Amino acid sequence: MIRFRFITICIVAICSFTVLADVKPISAQQCEIMREKGVLTANAPIQCNRLANVTLQYYDFNGQIKIGSIVVMDAVAQRVEHIFSLLFKKKIPMQSVLPMENFNGNDDASMQANNTSAFNARPITGGASWSKHAWGVAIDFNPLQNPFVAIDNNNNVTVKPVQSVKNYLNRYSWRPNKPVNTGMAEEVIDIFAQNGFLIWGGYWNYPIDFQHFEIGPQALVKQLAARKDGAALFEQYVSSYLHCMKISKHIKHNKKRTLHDKKRAVCIEGVTNKYTPHASGVTGN
Ligand SMILES: [Zn+2]
Repeated sequence: MIRFRFITICIVAICSFTVLADVKPISAQQCEIMREKGVLTANAPIQCNRLANVTLQYYDFNGQIKIGSIVVMDAVAQRVEHIFSLLFKKKIPMQSVLPMENFNGNDDASMQANNTSAFNARPITGGASWSKHAWGVAIDFNPLQNPFVAIDNNNNVTVKPVQSVKNYLNRYSWRPNKPVNTGMAEEVIDIFAQNGFLIWGGYWNYPIDFQHFEIGPQALVKQLAARKDGAALFEQYVSSYLHCMKISKHIKHNKKRTLHDKKRAVCIEGVTNKYTPHASGVTGN
């Protein structure tokens, strides 16, 4: 009986390991579709040879297991696989995880569908320079639960998707006499940060981009894209953050949330500054 149980556990463990997520290069067919749909342009900062497709499992908001996929820069793909494996293990719900060719590269359409996605060769919203999404190093997570809040020069506020306005500008999950809000970005900040996606758009004053996670400095992104051993460089970056969080344990850890948030902010600041020449921090949604 004990032996049978052991074998069963092993089989379950092996199965869950193999089924959870998978990283593959972009196929010629997918690359062609990405071009046709305007997700990938000839002048985009990286092309299909440096992109990877991560197939993953996730729970939807009804607790059903679904299969999705997300396109990212190859150098960060293993870490993205790990992020989605952790989200799956923790049963963090998502509504949809589909590559941007399913939305003709239209960010508004993807947000309307509450779709979690990454690569899209588009400029920063309202700007001219390439978004981190155009490098495949930014992920938009559950846009409905985590809206994009734009604030223009006249202090006019625009919320995308508009369906978020009445339910998700309030960022508390647990509230009296209200249903629990799930799928919120605040719940997954550490999962993303521990895998190198250090910058969360919820840290910004404007725009506030609750759905947006990105790896960090533009200089690092360019190095990752330029080097064949980009994945090794990204691992160094991740290790720097994890090391900082580890040695910061001497800050008395009494389980107070504010202390953890402070430690994380200090480590993110230290690591991203280290990878930013002349502290020319570049952000973008
Ligand atoms: Zn984004």
